[in-house]
Amino acid sequence: TEVATPDSNQKSSVQEQGITPRSQDFNAWYLDVISAAELADYGPVRGTMVIRPYGYAIWEAIQDYLNIKFKETGHSNMYFPQFIPYSFIEKEASHVEGFSPELALVTVGGGKELEEKLVVRPTSETIVNHMFTQWIQSYRDLPLMINQWANVTRWEMRTKPFIRTLEFLWQEGHTAHATPEEAEREAMQMIDVYTKFSYEQAAIPVIPGRKSRVETFAGADKTYTIEAMMGDRKALQAGTSHNLGQNFSRAFGTQFADENGQREHVWQTSWAVSTRFVGGIIMTHGDDAGLMLPPRLASIQVVIVPIWKKANEKDEVLDAALSIKDVLHVAGIKVKLDDSDQKTPGWKFNFWEMKGVPIRIEIGPRDVSSKSVVISRRDIPGKPGKVFGISMESSVLVPYIKEKLDEIQSSLLDKATAFRDSNIVDVSSYDELKEAISQGKWARGPWIGSDEDELKVKEETGATIRCFPFEQPQGPKKCLMTGSPADEVAIFAKSY
Ligand code: AMP
Repeated sequence: TEVATPDSNQKSSVQEQGITPRSQDFNAWYLDVISAAELADYGPVRGTMVIRPYGYAIWEAIQDYLNIKFKETGHSNMYFPQFIPYSFIEKEASHVEGFSPELALVTVGGGKELEEKLVVRPTSETIVNHMFTQWIQSYRDLPLMINQWANVTRWEMRTKPFIRTLEFLWQEGHTAHATPEEAEREAMQMIDVYTKFSYEQAAIPVIPGRKSRVETFAGADKTYTIEAMMGDRKALQAGTSHNLGQNFSRAFGTQFADENGQREHVWQTSWAVSTRFVGGIIMTHGDDAGLMLPPRLASIQVVIVPIWKKANEKDEVLDAALSIKDVLHVAGIKVKLDDSDQKTPGWKFNFWEMKGVPIRIEIGPRDVSSKSVVISRRDIPGKPGKVFGISMESSVLVPYIKEKLDEIQSSLLDKATAFRDSNIVDVSSYDELKEAISQGKWARGPWIGSDEDELKVKEETGATIRCFPFEQPQGPKKCLMTGSPADEVAIFAKSY
């Protein structure tokens, strides 16, 4: 769906009429949540977005986790320029073919026509190889393993906030190795890092696997992917890791002398996760009340809403609320006290629910006298998610809150996994595939069809091969399209 031009009515409509129900219009729901939870706004240029603090905090939580994992696996952060000479992009044939339609070019600088036009980076393999060629002389310089956190620009025709924007934020890892085996291990290791991140932090049960030839990155030998099922059952490619073979090293002459002095081209990988992942979190866990954040990525895990009616109640309630806040903060829990007296408690309940805060603590005058609080879980709406009268004694409250946060984290994953599994159908013929796709489900079946067969499926059903999952069923299989013996099952789905 096209990103609309900035629409001043949009915000007031979310505030007045509430969030569009998911079942009524999933896309409208998604845009309403982004607006209501103050995650992002449209930029003035079509397809661009302004990431607001609450949305950016989710990206920061993603960065914090991945940055540690990248360093643990031997990578160093660095930074490459955003402007790339056009000639670089042309050097790798399939790369230029894949990226040409999406390039943004700079032709004028400082009021003068440039001698060589510049590409605003859509990805950095070319400029990385240009530099690697200067840094790598011998096998002692390998492996070379770097990562950069950066913005990239792809002139997309269809855009959607977070999911597909003209400019987005990502990390891109780039590595060079002495052997193809080492490059393959690295590409697999990084898709594994993404998979663990998705399950353990984002509570998104992605399916890791290999892309088909048709869907492989322009310039890669192999692309590994993690595919997530969104709430409308469409697939989202949530991260990719490429085995680039020697495609870029040959194009750029990136060579090393091996132990015998023989010169050889390096073997390479690249891998990326972008701000798209934030969209994936929204569309996996959100409900009709708004956003629902997995506790491990929530910038606010617990919100305290103090309740008072009479002025003389205010001080004692706020005092108690403040001391609970301190206790939780000291225990390492991300806590916010909403003590503004501009809004009613009911308004605050709605607001923080919309923002997806996992746990709410209410505290009123009666709670103060009984030294207890009321706790609500965002993932269990209404009364069933409430616990009344938990002691505010820190030795009771802190472990209780920690346990609940863990419970919410795993219950979000369980729920998303059950949803995913009940929407994947095993198929053994093209008719069954068509049937599953027309019901909005994912179809999993044996496949050894040609690129043309795959494109035919796309044309006739709108579904593409999302991946050949790493986890494969045992036993002999027959291709659902051709009937020939097939080694692997593929997953077909409509996607974002
Ligand atoms: P690629 O370099 O094409 O493999 O892209 C790496 C990752 O970036 C993909 O797996 C997507 O998750 C993400 N991505 C690609 N294009 C966009 C876009 N236009 N906006 C946001 N994320 C994107």
